[in-house]
Amino acid sequence: MNVMTEISVERISKSRLTSVDFNNLGFGTYLSDHMLVADYREGKWNQPAIVPFGELPMTPAILALHYGQSIFEGMKAFKNKQGEIVIFRIQRHHQRLNRSLERMCMPAISEEMFTESLAAIVATDAKWVPTSEGSALYLRPVVFATESRLGVKISDEYKFVVLTSPVGPYFSKPVRVKVESHYVRAAEGGTGFAKCAGNYGGAFYPTQLAKQEGFDQIIWTDACDHQYIDESGAMNIMFVLNGKLVTPQLTSAILDGVTRDSILTLADDLGMPKEARKISVAELKAGFEKGTLTEAFGVGTAAVVSTIATINIGGKDYSLPPDSSSSFQQRVKKRLHDIRMGHEPDKYNWNFHVPVK
Ligand SMILES: *Cc1c(COP(=O)(O)O)cnc(C)c1O
Repeated sequence: MNVMTEISVERISKSRLTSVDFNNLGFGTYLSDHMLVADYREGKWNQPAIVPFGELPMTPAILALHYGQSIFEGMKAFKNKQGEIVIFRIQRHHQRLNRSLERMCMPAISEEMFTESLAAIVATDAKWVPTSEGSALYLRPVVFATESRLGVKISDEYKFVVLTSPVGPYFSKPVRVKVESHYVRAAEGGTGFAKCAGNYGGAFYPTQLAKQEGFDQIIWTDACDHQYIDESGAMNIMFVLNGKLVTPQLTSAILDGVTRDSILTLADDLGMPKEARKISVAELKAGFEKGTLTEAFGVGTAAVVSTIATINIGGKDYSLPPDSSSSFQQRVKKRLHDIRMGHEPDKYNWNFHVPVK
C-alpha cells in the first residue's frame, strides 16, 4: 500500500490562520485548517483523506459514546533551526497507539498508514507550525468506534482522525501535588497503560476534589494499598533521590510515556545514574526527612517537564528545594529541546523529517 501518493486533500476555501494570535497560543485553543479522516469498515482501513476541519456526520448511537472504545495519541511537530518540520518519535507513538488499540479490541493501524497520515496532515497545514521558542504543532490522532447501534458489542466500524493545534510554551508555576490514598486511576490488569478516553473521564472527579483542596494535581498510587507511586495526573513522574534519577518502573497501570523514555535515555548522556523501579510513598517521605530528595517533576509531551514544588503525603506538606537552571530537570529539558531543534545531533534518530512540497 502506498498511501501517501493517494491521500486526497480538499482545501479550505479561506484559511483561519490570520485569526491566530501566535504570541498567545495557549494549549489546544486553536485547531488548524484541516483534519485527516479514515474509516474502518468491512475489516479494513480505507484510504485516509484530508478535509477542512469541521463537523463529522454521525448518530448518537455510535458505540464509542456508549461503551468507550476511544483511544488517542498526543505528539508534537517542530520547526527546527534549518526551517524543516520534524515530528518527534513518530515510531514510538505508533507502537503505543497499536498497544492501546489492541487493549480496547480495536483494529491496528499500520506504521505506513500512521506515518504517511501524520506527514500529510502536517505538510498540508505546514504554515500552522509555530516558530517561536518552545512552541510546537500538537498532533492529536484519535480512533473511536462509529458503528451505530445499541447493544453491547465490539464495534465493527471506526474512524481514525488526526487534528492538529499550534501550542505555545507551557509555562506553569511549580505545582503542589497530593499523594492520593483513596481514589484510583488504574489497577494492574486494567487499562492504565492504554491511552484510552475513559482513563481521563475517571480521573476527573478525584482531581477536581484535589483542586478544591488547593492542589494542582494528584500523584496516583497503586490500586492495592496506595503504597507505591504510579504517575502524576496525565504525566509520568520522576525524582532525583540520592543524586540518582528514579522513576516508577512500568506496570500495566502506568502509561508508557515517550517523554519518560526519552529522558531516561538522555540521563546516560548527561552522566546521570538512573533507576526505573518501585518507589514507595515511605521512601519519598524518608527522602524529604533526610534531605536526599532534591527534585520531583512530571514528564509528558504537553509540558515536557513540570516542576513539583510541594508533595502532600498523608495530610502533611513536604517541600522541595527551589528549581534552578542547573537542576537535572532543566538540563534534560534543554537537551531534548536542542535535539528537536537541530542544535544537537539527533543520535537516537528521534526526529522524523516531514517532506513539504
Ligand atoms: C500521555 C500520557 C503520559 C505522557 O506520555 P508522553 O508520551 O510522554 O506524552 C503520561 N501519563 C498518562 C496517563 C498519559 O495519558
